[in-house]
Amino acid sequence: MSDRGTAWRLSVDADTCIGSGMCAGIAPGLFTLVHGVSVAREAPIAPDPAAVDAAESCPVEAISIRDAADDHLVAPEP
Ligand code: SF4
Repeated sequence: MSDRGTAWRLSVDADTCIGSGMCAGIAPGLFTLVHGVSVAREAPIAPDPAAVDAAESCPVEAISIRDAADDHLVAPEP
């Protein structure tokens, strides 16, 4: 993980998510399962290692974390 930035935006690709629940287990304040699909918190968050853990633990890499300022990908690692 290179530049962490000062605020992050979370997103989940609903078409890719398989509803494993890993992200909601790791970061329950940031991800919620709704009808078997993870929904990320909409508002930008302060950089949070739990968000990175969730993104890197997702078995199908459905989670993206981007810097709110310049949109660069923070996690998962390519
Ligand atoms: S860890 Fe990935 S596949 Fe599992 S619920 Fe979260 S976004 Fe979906």
